[in-house]
Amino acid sequence: MREWQAKEAPVKKFDYLKPETLDEALSLASQYGKKAMFIAGGTDVLVMIKQKTISPDVFISLQKILGLNQIQFDGTLKVGPLVTHRTIEKSDLIRKQFSALADAVDVLGSIQIRNIATLAVISARPRRPLIPRPLCWFWIPN
Ligand SMILES: Cc1cc2nc3c(=O)[nH]c(=O)nc-3n(C[C@H](O)[C@H](O)[C@H](O)COP(=O)(O)OP(=O)(O)OC[C@H]3O[C@@H](n4cnc5c(N)ncnc54)[C@H](O)[C@@H]3O)c2cc1C
Repeated sequence: MREWQAKEAPVKKFDYLKPETLDEALSLASQYGKKAMFIAGGTDVLVMIKQKTISPDVFISLQKILGLNQIQFDGTLKVGPLVTHRTIEKSDLIRKQFSALADAVDVLGSIQIRNIATLAVISARPRRPLIPRPLCWFWIPN
């Protein structure tokens, strides 16, 4: 084993909870408070775990909750927290009526990332940030 591998500290153990309803998810969030974090696509969370920027005791996955992957428009655009960047990018509604949003997600990461990552919370990587990193609370330790 290489020296750098041997020195790497293990990631802290955490529980991974998969509520099936929004009420259940909110109840878990309320129960665990700051010890818990939501996880949607996980593209950011995985990086942050590895970098040890975050170390929650509990992850609350949103993936099993039905209906969170919908885009709706009733005068107001509503993008569910499991809608991926790729879905936004391919949405006719968003392309026609909210083209700035479509253009923004169009250049985010790679197609592989856009297939999984959601719009819910954006980390803003230096490459093509949608929001400048200093404005994102979860990049600021404590
Ligand atoms: C290789 C790579 C390239 C990338 N390129 C870019 C880029 O060019 N531009 C860019 O802006 N980003 C980029 N990202 C970052 C990432 O893909 C985006 O920030 C994406 O929007 C994160 O979505 P996710 O669903 O994976 O979030 P997750 O990793 O699941 O969650 C990210 C954060 O949001 C919180 N969260 C998620 N959903 C909710 C919710 N519903 N309510 C409350 N909190 C929630 C989580 O607790 C966590 O703190 C890149 C990431 C990778 C790995």
